[in-house]
This record gives sequence, C-alpha cells and structure tokens, in this order.
Amino acid sequence: MGGLDRQTLQEIIGALADFGARRLTDPKLLELDAKDEYPVEIIRSMCGPELGIQMAFMPQELHGMGGGSFDLYRLCEEMARMDVGIATGLFATFLGSEPISVGGTEEQKQRWLTRIADEGIIMAYGATEPAAGSDLGALRTTATRVEKDGQLVGYRLNGAKQWISNGGFADLYTILANAPGGPTWFVVDKGTPGLSAGKPEDKHGIRASNTAALTLEDVGVPADRVVGLVEGRGLVQAQAVFGYTRLMVAAFGLGAGWAALDRAIEYSKTRLQGGSPLSEKQGYTHKLIVPHAARLEAARAHVEETSTRLDEGEKELNTEGAIAKLLATEAGNRAADASIQALGGYGYTREYMVEKIKRDVRITTIYEGTSEILEMTIARDRWQQHLKTRGQYHREQAKKVAQLPASSGGPIAALALESLAEVMERSRVARLTRHQHVLFRLGELIAIGETAAAFARRAAAAASGTLPGKAAARFAPEPLAALSRIFAREAAARIGEEGLAWICGAGGVRDAEVPALEAALRLPEIHRAQIGLVADMDAAADAIYGRAAEEQQAA
Ligand SMILES: Cc1cc2nc3c(=O)[nH]c(=O)nc-3n(C[C@H](O)[C@H](O)[C@H](O)COP(=O)(O)OP(=O)(O)OC[C@H]3O[C@@H](n4cnc5c(N)ncnc54)[C@H](O)[C@@H]3O)c2cc1C
Repeated sequence: MGGLDRQTLQEIIGALADFGARRLTDPKLLELDAKDEYPVEIIRSMCGPELGIQMAFMPQELHGMGGGSFDLYRLCEEMARMDVGIATGLFATFLGSEPISVGGTEEQKQRWLTRIADEGIIMAYGATEPAAGSDLGALRTTATRVEKDGQLVGYRLNGAKQWISNGGFADLYTILANAPGGPTWFVVDKGTPGLSAGKPEDKHGIRASNTAALTLEDVGVPADRVVGLVEGRGLVQAQAVFGYTRLMVAAFGLGAGWAALDRAIEYSKTRLQGGSPLSEKQGYTHKLIVPHAARLEAARAHVEETSTRLDEGEKELNTEGAIAKLLATEAGNRAADASIQALGGYGYTREYMVEKIKRDVRITTIYEGTSEILEMTIARDRWQQHLKTRGQYHREQAKKVAQLPASSGGPIAALALESLAEVMERSRVARLTRHQHVLFRLGELIAIGETAAAFARRAAAAASGTLPGKAAARFAPEPLAALSRIFAREAAARIGEEGLAWICGAGGVRDAEVPALEAALRLPEIHRAQIGLVADMDAAADAIYGRAAEEQQAA
C-alpha cells in the first residue's frame, strides 16, 4: 500500500487531535457556530507551520508528504470528528486543487499546487451554479476567447457560481466555465478584477465554514490558465476526482457519526433512569446505539476497501466511491439524529454538541453528489454489469463471500447478494427500471448488499490478523464480527423485503406468483438468518461499553 507509513500517519492523527484539544474546544466550536464565523486564522494555522495538515494531502513531487487515499480517509475522519465545518474549509482547498491534479500539465501543477504545501494557500472549487447543481452540464458561465493578431491570448469569464466553500476567502479558485470547445476549468487568482464573492450564506450547519456565491463579470485570464491547456475537458475532469473526493466526504460521515454516538455512549453510562444507567437498558442501546455502530462500521469497511484499491493503483472506482459516500453519510446522519434522542431533552439543546453535530453532518448527503444522484450512479453502473454478465455479477460476488467463515457474516452477506441478483433479474424481465424510483431504490439496495460483503471481508481479515496496518482498530475481531453479522442480517432483510415490495409495487408480478417470488428472493432463508440477532446485539453493546473486558478483568 502506498502513502504514509503507519507511524507517520499515527503521528499526524495525534498532532491533529492535539491541535483540536487546544484550539477547537467545545466552547470555541459552539461560539463559532453561534456567531456563524469562519475561523480563517485557525484554518491558516492548520495549513501553516503550527500543524501543516495540508502537506499530507499533497504528493511528494509537489512538496507534500504524499498521503494516499487510506491516509486521507483517516485524516478526514479525524477532522470531521472535531468539526465538519472546519473539515470542509480544509477539504475545499484540496477539492479546488483537484481539477489541476487530474487535468493540469506538469508545469501547471508545479506552478500552482506546490503553493499549497509551501505557502498553505486556501483554494476554492467553483463548479455549482444557481441553475446547475447535480446537473453540471447545465452550467451557464461562459469563457469567451480573447484574440490578438489572430492569436489566442486569454479568456473573459462571465457568470455566477453558487454555494462555493471558501468562496469569500480563497487565494486561488478553479472555475468551471463554458468555453467555445466545451466546459473547461480555469485557474483564477483572488483579486482578479471582475471576480467578487457574495456575503456568507446563513446555513443550517457547518457554520464554521464559509460558503459564498461568486460573481464573474468580464474576468480576464491569460490562456495559460486553462487547466490542461485544452478546452472541453472540464466535465470529464470533474468526474475523475469523484472516486477520491467522495471517499473523503464518506469519512466526514464516519467522523461526525461517531463523534455524536460517542457522546451518547458516555452520557448513557451515567444517566440513571429507573434506578440504573441507560447503558444497561436493551431498549435503549439496541435502538439508539448498536445499529448505528453497525452501519458506521459497515460503511468504514467499504471506505477502507475502496481506498486500499485506489492506493494499489486501481482506477475508475467511481461507483465504489459513490457506495462508500452514500452509506457512510446516511449512517452518520442517522447516528447523529439517534444521539439527540439518546440524550433526551439535553440532546435538544446546543450545549451538549450533538444538536450541532446533527446540523453539521446534514450537508454530507448533499455536497459532492446528493444521495439520490449517488443512488442513480450506483444503479446505472451495476445495471450495466448485471446485463453484461447475464445476471451473474452479484451471484459471483455471493459465491466468494459465502466461502468466508460463518462468524464473519459472509454467508448472510452472500444471501443478501443472491437475493439482490434476483431482484435485479426480475426488474429486468418486467422492465421495472423504467420507473426512476425503482432504479434509485435498486441503487440503495446494491450499496447495502455490496457493503455487507465488504464488512464480512473486513471481519474475516480482522479475525485472521490480516487487516492493513493503518486500519482503524476500535473493535477487537469478535465484536467486529458481531457487528458484521448484525449489518448482514439488516442488508439481507432490506434487500429481500424491499425488493419484493418494489417488484410488487411496480407491477412486476401477478397476485398468485407472490409466494414463488418470496421463495426466489430467498426470504425464508433470510428470515432464518435472523436467528441470533439479539445475542449479537448484546455482544456488540457489551463491547461498545467495555463490559466484556471489565468482566474478564473481574474474573
Ligand atoms: C454548504 C455547501 C457547500 C458547498 N460547497 C461547494 C463547493 O465548494 N463547490 C461547488 O462547486 N459546489 C458546492 N456546493 C454545491 C453542492 O455540491 C450542490 O448543492 C449539490 O451538488 C446539489 O446541487 P443543488 O443544490 O443545485 O441541488 P439540485 O441538483 O437541484 O437537487 C435538489 C434535489 O433534487 C434531487 N435531484 C437532482 N437531480 C435529480 C434527478 N435527475 N433525479 C432525481 N432527483 C434529482 C437531488 O438529489 C436533491 O435532493 C456546496 C453546497 C453547500 C450547501
């Protein structure tokens, strides 16, 4: 695996945590949230000699430390654990640099990207427009060629950008605009005449980040500001960054979700109700804590697997990045919401932080591809795979994961994938994906099924001591396996039951055929696979609260 060595990564994570403990205390974060303030000097300190976090994000040839995808996922999770707004401010520089990283010439990379490591400059990524969000192809900002003596010397940019993180503070912007040859990225300096930022948006959450609209009025840029020096590659370049950047936002979901859940866990240890702590009440832990831990750790398995593959040189993992982001950010949102519930009335106040975390994590299912767009991306790609392999794509995955030890949850994940393959096939035969809703629901079920398989692989690797050295290690192998089995059961049940519901609901089956369809979707086996669920939840709760270890020590 490329990237940083384990010790260096641990040191950076430690330095980040130390910085957070000193400079980003709860009262400070609450103050920034209440004042709706972007702490630009904190961001500059984090990207300056005091911490130098930006170095990890840049390759060595651009004067950075050369962190790989796995490193960046770990760091993004830690940043979001502290504050998703501050994490967004840091991430936006990286995002802003990405069009140059993927599409720039070597000279352009040296010219602009070395400034991130050397000077700690702040960047912004200007893609979204008032009328072009999920559908970037609808962009209206124009880049008109400026010629002198028949030679192209530059461009004039005109238009408006919306929701740009760091928009009001960036030193350097990458701006997507329609040139005569098609959508093209341009590099624009702060202070270029005609470029102006609107007032900061008054947002629901991540209030410690700056989000602003940009206006471009006859902004003149020289011709060498075209990323890659060729017009028309902008949308391909924007797509190319997704496999990577979506993993980072997935990590934000993990960080914020666990930050909230950890507060709920601590609270429940000392909050007495009916004479005993909430942490000892199954009706509390098995609803508000354990399922969220299982979903977050399932998403982590997918994030770790995808980042490992990226670090090993695989390309075109856009669908995998989409799956990781969809599940991690949805899990983060649900965990934060449950954490408010877990703190009761206190959770609903600002002081206890979970209310802020819930507002902050909300953005993660919107930016870098909304959950619905991710569902579409996942469904379209796997639909093609299903057709190309004549329905064998998920069946082949099922065969492999079924070989894993039963304790890892592999056989249950295999059942989920078998059921998924059948749902897809029935949808093909009855042409159900003509309903956009069915297509999107398939996208979600595919993500859940493939993630159950990734989690089983991770649990099996943990049991055999073959997890990557840089993997997060919160859970010992046995509780990790219990969480994997919990998630695999949920995945199988959702795929079987919801798949059935959508096939019936979209008119894919006649009344008399429903019992046979239930059998084909493996529902009887899926129901039998639920045996042992509550015992696994008990074991997971014990691990989360450190009870098993305490009992062992007492014995
Ligand atoms: C705080 C914040 C920071 C941001 N930072 C940046 C940044 O730094 N740079 C940048 O370029 N952008 C940034 N964005 C923009 C963000 O990426 C977009 O908001 C996002 O892509 C969604 O676009 P939209 O807001 O136009 O919503 P829309 O695309 O209009 O979507 C609205 C709803 O419709 C759904 N939808 C959209 N298309 C379809 C479809 N075809 N079928 C079914 N449903 C659909 C969506 O899932 C969503 O639920 C930021 C946004 C916010 C709020």
